[in-house]
Amino acid sequence: MADCIFCRIARGDIAAQVVRRSADAVAFHDLTPQAPVHVLIIPTTHYAALRDATGPDGEAMLGKLMLFAAQVATDLGLDATGYRLVTNTGPDGGQSVFHLHLHLLGGRRLAWPPG
Ligand code: 5GP
Ligand code: ZN
Repeated sequence: MADCIFCRIARGDIAAQVVRRSADAVAFHDLTPQAPVHVLIIPTTHYAALRDATGPDGEAMLGKLMLFAAQVATDLGLDATGYRLVTNTGPDGGQSVFHLHLHLLGGRRLAWPPG
């Protein structure tokens, strides 16, 4: 989508601190980190939110996105200490950018339940 900020990051039109890139996904540091490690993981294809990832294409994308996220966590040295992977959806979920993304959070002990 032309005016979607994460599509623009995926295309390289907007600068981001990219951690890892594949044909299907991009991982980059969040602009406003909430933990010592806070990386966003997006599919290069635009899906507004999790509920839009339907059918065989959605299933394949989500599988690849999760594997990609796990690899990013390994690359960043988080396997031993652990991490959290979340996707915020809709108003109650606190979603503010409507291009599906995973937050990879780590580097400190995270509270549960979240606020
Ligand atoms: P959400 O609130 O939708 O779950 O998460 C959106 C995230 O995107 C927020 O954590 C916010 O800090 C981050 N964000 C918003 N705009 C940009 C941007 O232009 N660049 C980067 N790197 N992160 C962004
Ligand atoms: Zn998009």
